[in-house]
Parts: sequence; C-alpha cells; structure tokens
Amino acid sequence: MSDRMHPIPFSSLVDWALTEWSQQGTVFGCQKTYHATAQQSIPYAGRQLELPLGVAAGPHTQLAQNLAAAYVCGGRVFELKTVQILDGEDLHVSKPCILAEDEGYNCEWSTELTVPQAMEEYVKGWCLLHLLAKELQLGEQDGFVFNMSVGYDLAGIQSEKIDRFIRGLKDASQTDIFQRCKEELRAVLPRCRYMTAEDVDNISPHICNSVTMSTMHGCPAAQIEEIANYLLEEKNLDLYLKCNPTLLGYDRVREALDGLGFHYIQFDREQFASDLQYEDAVPMIRRLWEKAQKLGRFFGVKLTNTFPVQVHNHELPDETMYMSGRTLLPLSLGVAQLLGQEFQGKLPISYCGGINAQNVASVYATGISPITVCTDLLKPGGYHRLHSTAINLESAQLSPRQEVDVEAVGRLARTLCGPAGATHDVRRKPVPETPVCTHACKTTCGCCVTLCPNRANVVITVAGQRQMLHLDGLCNECGNCASFCPEKFAPYLEKFTVFCSPEEMENSRNSGFAPLDQQRYRFAVRLNGQRWELDLTQPDPAIPRDLVDIILTVVDVYPYLLYC
Ligand code: SF4
Ligand code: SF4
Repeated sequence: MSDRMHPIPFSSLVDWALTEWSQQGTVFGCQKTYHATAQQSIPYAGRQLELPLGVAAGPHTQLAQNLAAAYVCGGRVFELKTVQILDGEDLHVSKPCILAEDEGYNCEWSTELTVPQAMEEYVKGWCLLHLLAKELQLGEQDGFVFNMSVGYDLAGIQSEKIDRFIRGLKDASQTDIFQRCKEELRAVLPRCRYMTAEDVDNISPHICNSVTMSTMHGCPAAQIEEIANYLLEEKNLDLYLKCNPTLLGYDRVREALDGLGFHYIQFDREQFASDLQYEDAVPMIRRLWEKAQKLGRFFGVKLTNTFPVQVHNHELPDETMYMSGRTLLPLSLGVAQLLGQEFQGKLPISYCGGINAQNVASVYATGISPITVCTDLLKPGGYHRLHSTAINLESAQLSPRQEVDVEAVGRLARTLCGPAGATHDVRRKPVPETPVCTHACKTTCGCCVTLCPNRANVVITVAGQRQMLHLDGLCNECGNCASFCPEKFAPYLEKFTVFCSPEEMENSRNSGFAPLDQQRYRFAVRLNGQRWELDLTQPDPAIPRDLVDIILTVVDVYPYLLYC
C-alpha cells in the first residue's frame, strides 16, 4: 500500500470514460450529468463560464478523472490544486489527511504529484473535458475555465520548475502532452458520435489565463504584494488573491464559532498576529487592483482559505489541521462583508467556504461569484452533491450582479450560520487499529464510491451481485472513505483491491490481485494473507471461486480498471 498515485494515461482515461458511458451511462461513477443552458453564462477573467460554480483547489482538482467527474456533475470553474516548489516524494503529507464527518479538517496542502505530473494531469483534464462536453452534449467546449493556483513564496514561484508550469498552462501548444492528447483524441474519433476532427483541432492550448495566488499563513504583507505584482506584471495573468479567515480577527472568529456551538475548536491569538493584518490588507488590495486596471488585467479576491486549528483529539496525525466546511461559512462570509463594505461592493469576490446545495443560490444572489465547493463533496454522494448544487443554482434563475450587495452578505452571515449547529465533543479515530481483510460488504451501499475524490473505489456487478473494489493506484490514503462507511470499514485499507503490480501488492496488507503479465491472464491473488497465482485459463481449484469470478469479470467487462 502506498499513498503515491499512478495517474491514468490519457488514452486509458478516454477509453475508461467512453466505455463506462456506453455500458452503464455513468462517467467515473457519476450517474448524474449536468447539461448547461445558456442562461447562466457569466464572464470570468476574460472567458465565459456556463455556470458560476465549480471546485476549489484541493482533492477534487488533483487528477484528470477528478476534473472530469466534477465537470460531468456541473462544475464549470476549476481551481487547480496548488503547485509549489516542494513536490512529489519531497513533500510530506501525514496520512490520513482528511476528516469531513461534519465540519471539515485536512492536513494536506499542495499537489502530491510532481509539478510536471500535475501539469500533465491538468492538460489531460482540459482535453478530456472538451471530449465530454461534446460527446455527452453537456455544454459548449469553451464553457468552462481552468484557474491555476501557485504558492507559496516568490523564490519558489520564480523557480524554473514553477515557471515552466505557468508557461505550459498559459500556452501548452508546444508541450508533448498537449500534442499527445490531441493525437489520441483523433485516434478515438471512430468511437465518437458527436466529436469531430475540427473539434479536436479547435481545443485551445491556452489552458489558463488566470491564477489564484496562495501564500502560507504568516507570509509577510510585503512578500504577498511582491508575488501578486510579479504574477500580474511579469506573467500577465489575471489574478485572484486568496485571503485568510484570520482577517476577521481572533475575537470575531471565536465569537462566531462559539455562537454556533463549536466551542471545542481550538486556536490561539498568535496565528492572527502573524498573519496578514486587515489594516495592511486593504491598502494592498487597493494598490493591486489599481495596478491590474492599468495593465488591463482582472483582479479579485478569493474568500477564503481554510482556517488553521489545533489537533487536540487525534483527529488527524499532525499538530495543526485546516478547518473547512460549514464552520468556515461564518468566517468567509464575515471577511466578504468586511471587504465588501471597504470597497463599496465593487471589489470582485470569488468564494469558497461552506457552500452546499441549500445555500449556493443565496450566496450567489449577493453578487459573490464564482462559487467553488470542496468539503461538501467529501460527504456521501461526493460529486453528485455538486450536481444538486448546480441544479439549485440554475433553478434560482438569478441574473449576475455587477456589484456585491454588502447588506445581503451581512444578513446571510447571520442567517445561514445560525442558529447553533450540532457539536461533537468526541471524535473517533477513523481507521480501526486491526484491519480485517474482507472482500464483501453486506450492503455494498456505494457510499465510499461516491465520496472518493480520486474515484479510487468502484462498484462492479459480478454474477448479478454488487461488488466493491478498491483501486490502489488512484488512492492517496486521504482516509475520507473511512469516515462514512455504514459498516465501519476503512474501505481503502480493508476492501478487495486492484493493484498495479505485484510489488505494490507486497507493500500492502489488503486482499486483492495484481496482473502478472501484459495479456491479463495471470494474476497474483491474496485473500486474508493467503496467496495464490491465478492463471485464468486454468484456475487453481484452491482459489475461492468468487475471487476468480471477480477477476474474470474485471478482465472481461471492466478492463479499464486495469489501466496501469
Ligand atoms: S479510496 Fe478512500 S482513502 Fe483512497 S483516495 Fe479515495 S477516499 Fe481517500
Ligand atoms: S465499504 Fe462500506 S461504504 Fe463502501 S460500499 Fe461497502 S458498506 Fe458501503
């Protein structure tokens, strides 16, 4: 078992998406598809969005299939997972890194891929979304926007590694991956009903013209401004400056969380003192906005980042964790109200913080736009919850506002966040200490399938029965699926697993199987510690028949699951 992911090659991604769509009418497990209508289209940093809704930088924007699942369910703006100079094996992320049972916590940060791998994922995702838009008739091929996210200091952002990433996403035309994706799309045209060679030719290599800038908590104001100036002036990018909830000040944050019953969330005053101060933020935003206007570039703020709190009850294996979800809502709306008042509603505000299907239309009605979601999609239903959010936003038939209605934001900050919410004084550790290997669930409810950001759990049908499978190559051990299983499994540790190789199987205690040859006839198989070598042409009678049936079904009906 490893928390390192194996990105799916582009040709396999396309094959997976088209095969699953034609066989089951789903895409990466998403059963609900959002078909855009022209009415909700809004401008975004010089481009056009079919719906002012999407996914925030995080677990849902790391891999190409995540972007595809979010698009299919209604996302149209994609804040790509942050890249920074520290990447791949050099980046340490304690695992499990996500706990989203109620309010959300994480101890992850930037992409866990290398920066070049991340860029490939974003280019693959961009090309795949063009295919899905056309082939599934979900919307216009230019109806969605990718926004890159870079961090965390100027030296890192100016490094060759990050600079190459920025240049590549601004114009991917000369990159191998972009050309390869187009070639592979041309090769698959005979399987397509609507996609044409002209559509493939028309896929723009200009993947991003905007960036969300993210800095570490504690980054000095002068450096934040220096980075922002660099991205606007030197890199010619439209800019969203991501602000921290600490702008609200310790007393207001404590009061807001206590008022909602979240007394147990612990943080101290020091982090507020070391973060950007409100009185420094306002003139800096004013200067950057004026600079952008002079350069003919877009400038806005993104509200907000997550909020750092102390781990005090073994919630996650780190000292600090980052709070999101419904407890972030009063903080992010509070900052929106403050900045809205300061700039008389004229400052563009993009939003992330506790959005769900129930509140999205109210927040959008204030003029805050676009809106991105993260924590809500980590709960049962996963990407399908984005579909409900998209439908509710579309059904509200709201016209885009030119300015933010500050009074309305204030009203929402009071009404959406109260009355007092439920509290949890005791959290259980999500992963059982002695995992029990089993390949069956009593219910096979599919909960762990829907909520996995990486699509690393699937339910297949074997001899008329539903069978849950875990895909080791797509899992980064975030732990989210362990929070919600009604049968108290930690699916990523305990469920029958498809491994990319026998070596990876050796590194894991999970029961499962791994291909031993390219032809997919021979497999290493393990169940509860017992091992066999399976030859599908002559199965060893000692191997339980239900295991052989599972593997045969994968080979015959779901071959795309063996993408490695
Ligand atoms: S399978 Fe579970 S632990 Fe792995 S990425 Fe998905 S939700 Fe996270
Ligand atoms: S492992 Fe748990 S969450 Fe996943 S399908 Fe089985 S019962 Fe449902």
